[in-house]
Amino acid sequence: MELDLRFESVHEGILVSGTAHLEVTGECGRCLEPLHFERDVDLQELFFYSDSESLPVEDDEEQYTVEDDAIDLEPVLRDAVVTSLPFQPVCREDCKGLCSECGEQLNDDPDHHHEVLDPRWSALAGLTGTAAENDAANKSESDEREES
Ligand SMILES: [Zn+2]
Ligand SMILES: [Zn+2]
Repeated sequence: MELDLRFESVHEGILVSGTAHLEVTGECGRCLEPLHFERDVDLQELFFYSDSESLPVEDDEEQYTVEDDAIDLEPVLRDAVVTSLPFQPVCREDCKGLCSECGEQLNDDPDHHHEVLDPRWSALAGLTGTAAENDAANKSESDEREES
């Protein structure tokens, strides 16, 4: 994060304004590919002198104050930056994500799909499996016979 800020002394405190330049890295919320983008976030926040009579008394909004002649920018930056980031970042708007069956990257293979077997055929699928096993068993038996 690079900061380009201006600090102004105003009657009530110190007015901070400027831009935070972010380099964001993360991963796509759909396909988990790493992603990287840059973003500028504008900031403006007034830090009140803690002894200032102009310090607003409402508690519903957090007020930043100058403490011991210093200001803490971290919460201001955090609020501004976090709210500017997408809740679910994606590598691209039309990212197809991962296959829900096997987890394959669908962007690389748009035709990827799985044969969804009609459950009524699943019993038959079991039979062919058994038949193939029997064939294999028969074959190894005949191999043994040939050797002897
Ligand atoms: Zn993606
Ligand atoms: Zn799949």
